[in-house]
Amino acid sequence: MNCKSKSKGVLQFVVILFLISIFFFFSSSAASHKIDVKGIRYWSSPDYTRVVVDLSGPVEFSKNRIANPDRLYFDLQNTSLEKEIKTNLPVGDGILKMVRAGQFNPSTVRVVLDLEKITDFNVFIIDDPARLVIDVYGADLEDKKPEALTIKRRIVIDPGHGGHDPGAVGPKNLYEKDVVFDIAVKLKKILAENPLNDVFLTRETDIFIPLEERTAIANNKNADLFISIHANASPKRKARGIETYLLNWTNDEEALRVAARENAISLKKMREMNRQMDMVKVITEDLMRQNKRDESVKLANYIQKSMVSTLNNDSKKYVVDLGVKQALFYVLFGARMPSVLVEVSFISNPEEEKLLSKDSYRMQISRAIAAGLDTYIISTPVAQKVAGI
Ligand SMILES: [Zn+2]
Repeated sequence: MNCKSKSKGVLQFVVILFLISIFFFFSSSAASHKIDVKGIRYWSSPDYTRVVVDLSGPVEFSKNRIANPDRLYFDLQNTSLEKEIKTNLPVGDGILKMVRAGQFNPSTVRVVLDLEKITDFNVFIIDDPARLVIDVYGADLEDKKPEALTIKRRIVIDPGHGGHDPGAVGPKNLYEKDVVFDIAVKLKKILAENPLNDVFLTRETDIFIPLEERTAIANNKNADLFISIHANASPKRKARGIETYLLNWTNDEEALRVAARENAISLKKMREMNRQMDMVKVITEDLMRQNKRDESVKLANYIQKSMVSTLNNDSKKYVVDLGVKQALFYVLFGARMPSVLVEVSFISNPEEEKLLSKDSYRMQISRAIAAGLDTYIISTPVAQKVAGI
């Protein structure tokens, strides 16, 4: 071998080494682009179970149901299972036997729900942090009759935010989480004066609860009504007023902005979600159950009207009625009962922040919401029959 061919051989070797390192660089960076499956949580009750799969980012997924034994599975594309997580969760609640997860192939994690007895299920992704939410229904929803409202009604009140999440912060540093908590506690007290009402709060202290858990609490309590309480905020300091939301698709820019803030996602992501037809289909189907949408519209209207008229009578200042609106709020996704989200005033508006800091104003809001709920309950056909109206 002469010197020339020797250096040619070295060159070839270097080129091969270079190509190998390029290959490893790309394959390892491809691997690092995979989404991690970080954990599985669930909330269980006799007729409803919510399973949440925590992810490091949004994923594409497919869903399937197969028999013998009856099971649902979800293949999450371009994902890898974190090693430390618990992958076998025995549920045993009469709906699910077990939830399992495994690395089905190098690029797919499969989540399997071993079924006991189910009537339906719903699945969707929510973001920041990303998670796959699977709602599984046991006993037939038709069994739940509206008479329940006249005998004993369960009302779940959700004070927004809490813990490390202050919600919106006013110019004088008033925190949304504190205002809405106080309003919720007052509202609970007022409603609990009626022995027919069974009232629960999603949080009893200043703690953080993920949005999907709040809905799970309302569903697991088998609530008849669910109301999430928030204070509004806008970059426009002059923005003011009261509005009540229900869950639905929207093309209203302001409503999208409010939902993005309450969902803790960017406006861009909110717009994308609003355009995802899969998501809209899942939500529309869900809203069709038990006339839930119509009932939520009614409930929202009664609460909104009551707040505007009460505050106009009691306060010296004129209250701006922003009306009943709709948007895709995570906290209302999958709620099985008529449910609304109230924006009680703008904490970002200096005047309204001042009002919200007052005990008397918070009490007026609580009374007004309670009156709206009562009007709704009385308006249900069965209640009218019982009352002889
Ligand atoms: Zn809020």
